[in-house]
Amino acid sequence: MEHNLTLYNSLTRKKEKFVPIHPEIVGMYVCGPTVYGPGHLGHARPAITFDILFRYLRHLGYKVRYVRNITDVGHLEHDADDGEDKVAKKARIEQLEPMEVVQMYLNSYHKDMEALNVLPPSIEPHASGHIIEQINYVQKILDAGYAYISNGSVYFDVEKYNKDHHYGKLSGRNIEETVANTRNLDGQDEKRNPIDFALWKCASPEHIMHWPSPWSEGFPGWHLECSTMGTKYLGETFDIHGGGMDLMFPHHECEIAQSVAACGHEAVKYWMHNNMITINGKKMGKSYNNFITLEEFFNGSHPLLSQAYSPMVIRFFILQAQYRSTVDFSNDALLASEKALQKLTDGYRRLQNLLPAEASTVELPDYGKLCYDAMDDDLNTPVVIAHLFDACKYINQATDGLITLNAEDIAKLRHLFDVFVGEILGVKMSGESADSGNNKAYEQAVDLLMEIRANAKANKDWATSDLIRDKMAAFGFNIKDTKNGVEWSLK
Ligand code: ZN
Repeated sequence: MEHNLTLYNSLTRKKEKFVPIHPEIVGMYVCGPTVYGPGHLGHARPAITFDILFRYLRHLGYKVRYVRNITDVGHLEHDADDGEDKVAKKARIEQLEPMEVVQMYLNSYHKDMEALNVLPPSIEPHASGHIIEQINYVQKILDAGYAYISNGSVYFDVEKYNKDHHYGKLSGRNIEETVANTRNLDGQDEKRNPIDFALWKCASPEHIMHWPSPWSEGFPGWHLECSTMGTKYLGETFDIHGGGMDLMFPHHECEIAQSVAACGHEAVKYWMHNNMITINGKKMGKSYNNFITLEEFFNGSHPLLSQAYSPMVIRFFILQAQYRSTVDFSNDALLASEKALQKLTDGYRRLQNLLPAEASTVELPDYGKLCYDAMDDDLNTPVVIAHLFDACKYINQATDGLITLNAEDIAKLRHLFDVFVGEILGVKMSGESADSGNNKAYEQAVDLLMEIRANAKANKDWATSDLIRDKMAAFGFNIKDTKNGVEWSLK
């Protein structure tokens, strides 16, 4: 495969040329969502970041096996108030099966991801569906001597591991300061050292999700599921492991330790982390009153938003920053993104209507090469977008008759937009027909209804025009008469 893709590896802290372990298939694992509540921006950024990588690797010709797990039940993330597992708590309060809670949030997560044009991964394994594999993995770590049993729970012996290996190599922390910063959490009295983490937890009587194991009726520790499912589907060594920067410690650090303890070597060649999102300069969280769900962005119902933003504006906004930079969401920044995306969409539309001249009166920069160079530089999407805007300037000048472009140049520009906007950035532009056939047919059908309504109005057939307007509104459409004709959207 001929390419110059370099990716920033969090482990070596530098950009490295991407050379897959097995050229015939790239293995990529990304820590997926914890399905404990509605989708929010914290879900959107890693999903979009690794969607770009997935799309680009495929574009370069690789076959990619992309595994993104679902953290569903029984792990150690407890409700801050009473320490109860969040899924269990919701299930108890609403009298639902725990898997019912998981499925409900998972369905809405999938809906959000589809709206954001995030491609589904190749495999989406559930932690709760891999209990036997996780038990076997714990046994391997016990057999290797890096874990111990205490009151039916199994803990990873970090101090012992750190004597033979290096705990903290990914996050750059040393074990002493980590011990000093470890809070006194549940189960500390069972541990040899506060820094030890649970591989298996004995369930308390009120814990509703538990499974039998050689050590106790209990549930696996959270860090374990990714090591186990990564190994199961991608092998003992695989190419890329991604996730948000907040997962680097302890989650990914623990994963490295588990792999080395169980398999005798590390599993991952390139560790990649997307940076975090803030809202108006503040960390996002319920306590800051700035927790905005994706649905609230899409329908504009949150008080911090002046209007609804389409999923494509959210996607475009996230792509306007390189994935290792922080992104600050604000209503103004989103308005600017919406305008920018409109500019790009207008450019694309004009490009479709541009008629070729005999000869070009300008020499276009080699935008294809410029965009590939930017993508190869650790997925530098903002630079790709800047080149696309630059290309729009020529399109606008050609539309205004200030320059002319020949057929070859126009074809090159169209190819540029199709490849980089549609295929690689995954940004769908409104009015674009590259959508699925179904969507196109649907849009055409609605356009036809609008045309019938316009004709009825012109013929003063108010009964027909009102019928169409009222029924469409009842079906959930917004219909606006503007001086340029009718605009419609789904509410
Ligand atoms: Zn994970």
